[in-house]
Amino acid sequence: MIYQHRFTAGTPCDLPRGKVVCVGLNYAAHVAEMGSQPAAEPVLFIKPGTALRPFAGEIAIPVDRGECHFETELALLIGAPLRHCDATQARAAIAGVGLALDLTLRDLQKKLKQAGHPWERAKGFDGACPVSEFLAPARVGDLQNLEFRLHQNGVPRQHGRTATMLTPVLDLLCYMSRWFTLEPGDIVLTGTPEGVGPLAPGDRLVAELGALLRAEAGVVAR
Ligand code: ZN
Repeated sequence: MIYQHRFTAGTPCDLPRGKVVCVGLNYAAHVAEMGSQPAAEPVLFIKPGTALRPFAGEIAIPVDRGECHFETELALLIGAPLRHCDATQARAAIAGVGLALDLTLRDLQKKLKQAGHPWERAKGFDGACPVSEFLAPARVGDLQNLEFRLHQNGVPRQHGRTATMLTPVLDLLCYMSRWFTLEPGDIVLTGTPEGVGPLAPGDRLVAELGALLRAEAGVVAR
C-alpha cells in the first residue's frame, strides 16, 4: 500500500515518506505498567518508512505472532532538516501535529528484550505505524498542553496529557537530532501514556487530539 502524508481538510502534502524516530518510556505511568525503570536518557528507536499506513479505513495486524498492542502517541511531521538543533530550530521544523499508533508485537518484544536483542521485528514490521492526518502547528498551540485519547470498541483505553511527558517535545527533537539527522518527511513519535493493550480483528479504534483531530479505523487480520 502506498502511504502519503496528509493534512486535515484535504490539504495535500508533498513531503516524502521518511523514517519514524520514536522514544520509549516517555510517560512515568507507562514506565510503571511495563515494569521498567525510568531511563537516564531518552530510549530511541526507529521504524522504517515501510511501517507507515493511514490511521483510517482498516488497520491490518499480524495475528500469528503473539499479542499486537496499541500505543497511542502524539506524532510530529518534520518539514525541515534538523541536526544538532536547538529548541527554536526544532519548533520551526514541525510541519504537522497528529496522532499515531506505535503497534508493538508485545510477546516478541519481551523475548527480544530478555535476549538483549534489538526490537525491530516487534515494532518495525509493515503496517506497524498507522498515522492520522496532520494539523498545521499554528492550530495546535502549546505542544505541552495537549490531551489525546484512544477508545477501543467505545471503551476509553488511553488518555495522554503531554504536560506529563518526561522529555518534552522540543527537548526530544534536539536530543534525537544529536544522533540521527531528522529530514523533511520524517515523523517523530513522542511516547505512549499508560493503558496499552492488545488488539483483535473486529476492533474499532477512535483516537482524538482534544477537539482538534479525530482518527478512526477498524482492525482486520493481515
Ligand atoms: Zn511507543
